[in-house]
Amino acid sequence: MAAKSQPNIPKAKSLDGVTNDRTASQGQWGRACCALTGPVVDIVTGHARLSDIWAKTPPITRKAAQLYTLWVTFQVLLYTSLPDFCHKFLPGYVGGIQEGAVTPAGVVNKYQINGLQAWLLTHLLWFANAHLLSWFSPTIIFDNWIPLLWCANILGYAVSTFAMVKGYFFPTSARDCKFTGNFFYNYMMGIEFNPRIGKWFDFKLFFNGRPGIVAWTLINLSFAAKQRELHSHVTNAMVLVNVLQAIYVIDFFWNETWYLKTIDICHDHFGWYLGWGDCVWLPYLYTLQGLYLVYHPVQLSTPHAVGVLLLGLVGYYIFRVANHQKDLFRRTDGRCLIWGRKPKVIECSYTSADGQRHHSKLLVSGFWGVARHFNYVGDLMGSLAYCLACGGGHLLPYFYIIYMAILLTHRCLRDEHRCASKYGRDWERYTAAVPYRLLPGIF
Ligand code: NDP
Repeated sequence: MAAKSQPNIPKAKSLDGVTNDRTASQGQWGRACCALTGPVVDIVTGHARLSDIWAKTPPITRKAAQLYTLWVTFQVLLYTSLPDFCHKFLPGYVGGIQEGAVTPAGVVNKYQINGLQAWLLTHLLWFANAHLLSWFSPTIIFDNWIPLLWCANILGYAVSTFAMVKGYFFPTSARDCKFTGNFFYNYMMGIEFNPRIGKWFDFKLFFNGRPGIVAWTLINLSFAAKQRELHSHVTNAMVLVNVLQAIYVIDFFWNETWYLKTIDICHDHFGWYLGWGDCVWLPYLYTLQGLYLVYHPVQLSTPHAVGVLLLGLVGYYIFRVANHQKDLFRRTDGRCLIWGRKPKVIECSYTSADGQRHHSKLLVSGFWGVARHFNYVGDLMGSLAYCLACGGGHLLPYFYIIYMAILLTHRCLRDEHRCASKYGRDWERYTAAVPYRLLPGIF
């Protein structure tokens, strides 16, 4: 990794016990990311017009377009052309061909689970380039951040529009399509449930995981490289953000088969919400902490850093164990131990669109007996840890926890509404047994 050495930079101790670099806002993105309110104030006070801001925005470039095309093509190739081999040598990892959940129309899709392999190969290549090959600078993502944003938007809108047209004219499973009569709602929330090209190219699995989540850790690494280039060192806050978010990302790919049973895959249709969200929202907004730290190289005091690490790890533990408990319970049809005991169960049934009656079970033990979505609490604790790693100097890095709190609360209500109509009285029995959604005694 080629790091430009720079003279030592004076440090200023701020009130919240973190050390900030005074020259932090020297570069293009320091100004851009931390003077976000400036342009808004200028417009409100009449000192600038929207066209002035537009004129200052970096345009799409040929280099960014080439990079982005190469990136997406590489991920498509890894997804479609390389059947999983990780499950052959990694004990406990479930990959290769796996079945998804029963769709509302009663279809069970098969998936090629090879995300961990794609993540490993991509990162292997990244590190090989940084330490041996030097084909490109590890700061490449940061250096093309806004031009790449245009490319991500083009893909996000293209894929959402294609999914819409496909839903109308050549759906993969017509019985699983949902037409609401509202064009914009159809575009936003999607028509097709599991759009596919050919037998294996599944839009949901590909777009959520590959351009979105594989990119997440690469973007963070690029931000760390940029911080080192600008400030000659990588701060403990940047290390924490990289490590905690990498744990979350690796967890996602290690458990990609579990992801087939989550709301994204099991209940949401594929439209702009998922298509654009995966291409643009996720890589650009989930990585704000790293971006902030490039130009605000926060160095945390040891107790602060340890506190953030502990919060992140405990949050991750709750998130993982809660999700694992439900997954294990469903996979074994309740024939398992949760916290060392036979789980308490609520037997339930529902009818799919084809009129078939199905039976299912709701878990009332472990974290699922503490609150109905305690897995979200773990996720929120982890999200808060990423933000706290950035100190208290600016609201920008806290965007993530605010967004996640809204997303997961809304998701919780949305999911409960769906479960209530799916399971009817059986769901009422569950809510009576576990009365709180997120935090016992509070909500
Ligand atoms: P859940 O994993 O909580 O899945 C909800 C579904 O599980 C319900 O629809 C129901 O489906 C089933 N279920 C509900 N209660 C029970 C129970 N007691 N026993 C057995 N099954 C039950 O939700 P998500 O898919 O939203 O989230 C999965 C994880 O992903 C979460 O930890 C969340 O924090 C994380 N996430 C992260 C996001 C991010 O952007 N970082 C975004 C979204 C989620 P069924 O119809 O099968 O009964």
